[in-house]
Amino acid sequence: MKLVYSIPVLLILIVSLVTIKNCRSSNDSVVFKKNIATTSDCVFCKIATHLEPAKVIAGNDDVIVFESIHPRYPSHWLIIPKKHITDLKSAQPEDTLLLGKLLAAAGALGRQLESPGAFNIQINEGAQAGQTVFHLHLHFYSQSKLTTQSPKI
Ligand code: AMP
Ligand code: ZN
Repeated sequence: MKLVYSIPVLLILIVSLVTIKNCRSSNDSVVFKKNIATTSDCVFCKIATHLEPAKVIAGNDDVIVFESIHPRYPSHWLIIPKKHITDLKSAQPEDTLLLGKLLAAAGALGRQLESPGAFNIQINEGAQAGQTVFHLHLHFYSQSKLTTQSPKI
């Protein structure tokens, strides 16, 4: 009689353990910091959460802007979402507003450049297109410098 009861209990226990293990492994690298999904092995997530130093130009709740470590123009900044998104192809419908905020940040920075304030935006999507950091970022290039030390985005 006891054996009849213990087999289903054992089965439930095994299924529960396997389910818990699978849930943990699929989320292992995702860490929520102030409700923002970051990944532990991403250099831009580390910059966004102040675990890695960077020359931060501006930021708000969703977006951060910092100088490229290898600037190719007088102004060469990277505009990134604080949330980890690998690339444009990985962006989900719920990220649409956030994607718009990246462009809005570029416009705001452009308004705070010295004349003529012309700039380029570039996204390298995929390794074959030159992407080396797999956290979505807009390159902001300009020959103009900022008119202010603390630009607002
Ligand atoms: P991409 O080749 O489009 O992925 O661009 C990556 C950009 O990130 C390049 O401009 C790099 O110089 C820059 N970069 C890589 N690591 C860092 C870092 N730790 N701080 C600032 N910029 C970085
Ligand atoms: Zn990241």
